[in-house]
Amino acid sequence: MSLVCEKCVESDPGLQKFIVTRGQFSNNCSYCNIKSNSKKIELALLTNHVLNCLKESYQIKESKPEKYETLSSFLEKYFPSQEKNLLQDTESLIRKEIGEVYLIEKMLINTWDNFSNYTKTETRFFFSPKAKILEEAMKIIKNNNLIQKIKPIDKKRIYRARAFTEGNRIVYDLRRMGPPEPEDTINISNRMSPPGVPVFYASFDKETVLSEISRKGREGCAYISEFHFLKEITIIDLTLSIDESLPSFFDIDKTKREKRSDLIFIQGLSAKLSEPIDKDGREHTDYVPTQILAEYTKNKGIHGIIYESSRNLKGKNIALFFSQKNICVDKKNSIKPNIYLKFIKDNRTYSLPYGL
Ligand SMILES: [Zn+2]
Repeated sequence: MSLVCEKCVESDPGLQKFIVTRGQFSNNCSYCNIKSNSKKIELALLTNHVLNCLKESYQIKESKPEKYETLSSFLEKYFPSQEKNLLQDTESLIRKEIGEVYLIEKMLINTWDNFSNYTKTETRFFFSPKAKILEEAMKIIKNNNLIQKIKPIDKKRIYRARAFTEGNRIVYDLRRMGPPEPEDTINISNRMSPPGVPVFYASFDKETVLSEISRKGREGCAYISEFHFLKEITIIDLTLSIDESLPSFFDIDKTKREKRSDLIFIQGLSAKLSEPIDKDGREHTDYVPTQILAEYTKNKGIHGIIYESSRNLKGKNIALFFSQKNICVDKKNSIKPNIYLKFIKDNRTYSLPYGL
C-alpha cells in the first residue's frame, strides 16, 4: 500500500486539503521518504479523488476525437507533483480504471480565450445555434451575482474628461463632453462598441478619468463633465470578482470546484476589458468578442458594464450603452422615459497627470 504526504502535493492546496481532511496519521510517506508523524493518504484514495474531479470537467472518449487532451497532459497541468514517481503511479492507477482514453473539456467557455477564439472564428451572429456560448456567459455572470443596480438614491457620480492644449481650448457642452453620436464613431472600433455604435465610457472618480486620457509625454489640460443618475439602471459589475482567489481544480468542496471555471472566465473577461487600448488596426478583430458580449447583454436589458481601470489602481470605469439622447442638460427633460443621466458642468480646468 502506498501512502502520500501533504508535502508531496504541496503545489496544489486542494490536494493538500484532501490529505489533511481524509488522511490518517502515519510516519512514512512512500514517495519523499520524510519521516514524521503527519497525515498521509492511500494513493488509491487520492487517485480516486483526482479521477472524480477529472470526470466533472472532462468527457472521456475511447475513440480519438479531432481535439483532445491526453491523460498525461491533463496530469501534468493539474497534478503538479514534485515527485515523478507519484505522478507515474497516479497515471497508471487511473489508466487501470479507465484505459487508454482521450479527454475533451466539457465547458464551452471555461476561459475567456476559448470564448474569444470561438466568437472570432466560429460565429459572429446571435441567431446562430452556436449563440449558446453567449447564454452560457450570461448564466455565469448571473450566478456570480455580478448583475447589480445603480439607483439615483445611491448618489453615484460618473465622469468623462476631454483633453486640450492651452492655446486650443474646446467648447464645453454636452456634444463634446458627453457620449459620442453614432456618426462620430463610424471609423472607431472600441472594447465594447463596433464602428457606428456609440457607447459612453466614463469613470467613477476624477483621478481615474484623468489617468484614462493621459498619455506618456502628453502635456496639457482637461475639462471634466459630471453625470448624475436619474433612473435606476442595471449593470454588470466585473470588479466584484476580481480579488477572489481561484479555488483548486481538486478542492474538496464541489461548489468551489464549479466556481473555479466561472472565476477563470470572469477574470479573463475583466482583464480583457481593462487592458490598455492599442490602436494598431488589430482592434477590429481583437475587440470582436467583447463587442459581441456587450451587444448581447444590452439586448438582455443591461445598461452597462463596470470594469477596473488599468491606469489607476483601484479606479473603476463604466461603459454605458447610452448616447446623447439618454442624457439631459436641464431638469425639465429629466422625466422623459429614455433619459437616464443628467449632465453637470464643471468650470474648472484640470492638468493632466504627466508621464503615465
Ligand atoms: Zn511525501
